[in-house]
Amino acid sequence: MALIVPLRREYDVLGLRGQFPALQRRINGRALTYLDNGASAQQPAAVIEAVSDYSRNHHSNVHRGVHTLSQEATALFEGARGKVRGFINAASDREIVFVRGTTEAINLVAGTLGRSRLQPGDEVVISWLEHHANIVPWQMLCEQAGAQLRVVPMDRRGVVDFDAYRALLGPRTKIVALAHVSNALGTVLPIREFIAEARARGIATVVDGAQAVPHQRIDVQALGCDFYAFSGHKMYGPTGIGVLYAREAVLATLPPWQGGGDMILTVSFTRTTWNSLPWRFEAGTPNIAGAVGLGAAIDWLGQVGMEAIAAHEADLLAFATERLATIPGLTIIGTAPDKASLVSFTVDGVHPHDLGTVLDAEGVAVRTGHHCAMPVMEFFDVPATTRASFALYNTRAEIEILHAALTRAIGMLR
Ligand code: PMP
Repeated sequence: MALIVPLRREYDVLGLRGQFPALQRRINGRALTYLDNGASAQQPAAVIEAVSDYSRNHHSNVHRGVHTLSQEATALFEGARGKVRGFINAASDREIVFVRGTTEAINLVAGTLGRSRLQPGDEVVISWLEHHANIVPWQMLCEQAGAQLRVVPMDRRGVVDFDAYRALLGPRTKIVALAHVSNALGTVLPIREFIAEARARGIATVVDGAQAVPHQRIDVQALGCDFYAFSGHKMYGPTGIGVLYAREAVLATLPPWQGGGDMILTVSFTRTTWNSLPWRFEAGTPNIAGAVGLGAAIDWLGQVGMEAIAAHEADLLAFATERLATIPGLTIIGTAPDKASLVSFTVDGVHPHDLGTVLDAEGVAVRTGHHCAMPVMEFFDVPATTRASFALYNTRAEIEILHAALTRAIGMLR
């Protein structure tokens, strides 16, 4: 019997790197080793050029213009919406709301779904490992509504306790809001199972997908969530643009959020009527250039292939975990069995900020601090961590550079 070996396209990491102008920079006399992708990933030339082409040739306001430029800008903007729909397999363009980013998306849900549905005594459930963007809007909402914020615990690995989660869901739970992937620990939540539990009880589900979307293929229909939020700048697109996916059946029932141009159908001093979906939730001139750039990022990611990216990053994570563990006094914070490609760590006797500064002197960019996840820092009883977060263009060689730079920095700072 013939053995059929599936053809695997070679993952050309050096070729991919070459498409990122920022990665060609030298910092303090060294080649840049960019390991702060969890905060913002760099942009490939295809994205930069798409934004530039829009600005040079097609820039105009969208939707209401009959002139050529406005029609071109509208086609590009709405075309980008279609690309987002395809990228996350939403059922319709009406489910794709352009926002500034994940933060704005979650605030939109809190300000519409939350404000209209929450009664005093109701509950919103989040987990311990959330980014502040998925804590504070709910906290503010609960305060306004007289509702309660309930927090699902995690263990020392950074794994969110599924049984405790199920036990927390009750008749007063109206909203569950969870990260798909933790930015501080890297934990990947089995989000489909978390969503299914809430859905079975008629609870609305909101997923913070900021750290998931760049690393794995997302299918919002398969996940079954009501809302899924993410940011362009973490997926090789521009800043100031992000997406709120909202299931149409739910979005259609929400009250409007911000008022202004574009979100209305008719306005008079006595009565205003609302535009159809999704524009009802997009008041004012949107970030057209940003949407065009995001669309270009999606096209580009499609060429690279999300599965190939996930495989490459899994290799980087395994290699980095193994290499960093050899450094004396270094403790990895976040050891869940299912992790995205980032490593958060502390080093005995060395403050993360000092470490970050010394690494920068060697051209190595990492993030230090609380990563907008102060409850996580409190849980692990550390003021801050150093985080190296990997992207599709990082290499094992760069992890060796990080290892060597860390070893030197620790020797210097201790
Ligand atoms: N959630 C998570 C998990 C994040 O990592 C981030 C960005 N650090 C956000 C939300 C907020 O994203 P943005 O700043 O783009 O709104």
